[in-house]
Amino acid sequence: MSSAVAHAADIVEPQLHIAKGGPAAPQVALTLDACMGQTDKRILDTLVEHKIPATIFITGRWVKNNAQALDVMKAHPDLFELENHGLNHVPPIDNVPTMYGIKTAGSLAAIRAEVQGGADVVRENTGKAPHWYRGATARYSLDAVKLIEKMGYKVAGYSLNGDMGASLLAPVVEKRIAAAKDGNVIIAHINQPTRSAGEGVVKGILALKARGVHFVRLNDVQSSQTLDPVHMSKPVKTPKITAAVQLRAVN
Ligand SMILES: [Zn+2]
Repeated sequence: MSSAVAHAADIVEPQLHIAKGGPAAPQVALTLDACMGQTDKRILDTLVEHKIPATIFITGRWVKNNAQALDVMKAHPDLFELENHGLNHVPPIDNVPTMYGIKTAGSLAAIRAEVQGGADVVRENTGKAPHWYRGATARYSLDAVKLIEKMGYKVAGYSLNGDMGASLLAPVVEKRIAAAKDGNVIIAHINQPTRSAGEGVVKGILALKARGVHFVRLNDVQSSQTLDPVHMSKPVKTPKITAAVQLRAVN
């Protein structure tokens, strides 16, 4: 009856690690999602000022309203690697109707359109083809993972959730990011300038830098990934932000 329950085991949240740099030169990958909305200049300016490399996942929706920020990113190809976060920020899931309250793609054809559309956006706006795709919500149906890889893209998981969808307060975000370990792939958001979380992203990455941690981009380093299954005991139909907090908090 309820497909949300029946197929929940076929949803995965990929855990991505990069190669460790070792005790003398620990390294992390900072990945920032630009889902839609605006640009958090607190973060972007800090990255430029302190020459901190990052992998930024952009969508077609974000690109439309953020030409200036995109120009800043493109002006620093030594720092910013731009990758695919989808055309319309639609979760690449075909076996449950919603994820964190967001309507999913619902079919493999719709997933293909979302992934290819996002790849086209990256190519048209940067002149470079993307190598990585991170879906909205960073969760995938297993069939979506297979399709994305067949299309020639790597699925970009993460191993340290820095800001829980930009929902946490700055001191908490700072503490989480500052505690990153050698080989972690950090996920946070660069599209929520009015939220407290962004201030914590800035402070957390500066703390890492002060500790001597190196920042690398996903394309510049070896990585390994596991497809961790998502266990959902009930259908996901709660509101967006709070749902993200609640569900991720139990993971
Ligand atoms: Zn997103």
